[in-house]
Amino acid sequence: MNLWQEYLRPTNLSQALKAFAEASAPILPIAGGTDLLLDLEQGRHSPVHTLLDVTSIAEMTALEARGDELFVGAAVPVNRIVLDPLAGAHARALTEACNLIAGPQVRNVATLGGNVAHALPAADGTIALLALNAQAEIAGVNAQAAVPGGDLPAIRRIPFKELFLGPGKSLLKHGEELLVGFYLPLSKNGQASCFKRIMRPQGVALPIINLAIWLERKNNVISQICIAVGPGGPTPWRASETEKALIGKPLNDESFNAALEALLAQVGFRSSARRASADYRRHIVTGLFRDVLETAWKRAS
Ligand SMILES: Cc1cc2nc3c(=O)[nH]c(=O)nc-3n(C[C@H](O)[C@H](O)[C@H](O)COP(=O)(O)OP(=O)(O)OC[C@H]3O[C@@H](n4cnc5c(N)ncnc54)[C@H](O)[C@@H]3O)c2cc1C
Repeated sequence: MNLWQEYLRPTNLSQALKAFAEASAPILPIAGGTDLLLDLEQGRHSPVHTLLDVTSIAEMTALEARGDELFVGAAVPVNRIVLDPLAGAHARALTEACNLIAGPQVRNVATLGGNVAHALPAADGTIALLALNAQAEIAGVNAQAAVPGGDLPAIRRIPFKELFLGPGKSLLKHGEELLVGFYLPLSKNGQASCFKRIMRPQGVALPIINLAIWLERKNNVISQICIAVGPGGPTPWRASETEKALIGKPLNDESFNAALEALLAQVGFRSSARRASADYRRHIVTGLFRDVLETAWKRAS
């Protein structure tokens, strides 16, 4: 049986949004297909009539500096991010996360937007973007209709965290909205980031636990910090109390122990059938947290 009936490949956003309005439903975006095709084949996804391939949409394949931000298009394959010098300079946690996703063949086609749109609380690219204080850009067909003249896509930006409503659930409207890309602040002096994870064999799928930190180091104290841990809750999770415990402090055993206590008090690890128990995750997070924090701290010096 065919997994789909119609396959469209628009080259710009206006065409894509028009296809949402006009093509036979149900219609779904497809990027690398590394999640979606398996889900369709194995019956985990409801049947689809039209697949809308987003990988040739010019607005979604850019990776460039725009003013004081870095823009990473949602349809950029993760391997391109790994190899990109701008991403390496300004979003090290993201390049480290992308370099750990699956194996080389998957990384050549899997996109950052697909990683995020799947809305899993421990997706590697997602956890890095959360720590890097990203904003998500969304284009929508309803909003487009509201634009006088109607043929310009209407685009909005939201804080990255607001995208996620629950495990596998995002606020993107199915068949109406697309993730266009992500904006990240360009790095300044004294700012650095790091991503690491603990995993069963590399290349299998999601990690047992992953952790990303972005921080700013000024006068030898942590002046700003964002910490993301996956899967720390039902949606991609920020360790806000841990961040508070570290702000204004130098990194030493005392500040680390207070931060770790805050993390363990707030985090909501769960047991997952194939990966690890909640207890095991609580046990191993200590070493991972110390490693990522110390690496980001050293990089920021
Ligand atoms: C062998 C294997 C190993 C893997 N290992 C990892 C891993 O280590 N870490 C990890 O995080 N993930 C892993 N994955 C999961 C997957 O490869 C990644 O999440 C990948 O980034 C998904 O991107 P994609 O382009 O293939 O998405 P697709 O499969 O094309 O799409 C995924 C979902 O996102 C939607 N979508 C795609 N693009 C957009 C868009 N621009 N706007 C709106 N919706 C969109 C689709 O409709 C679909 O629902 C693995 C997968 C495989 C098969």
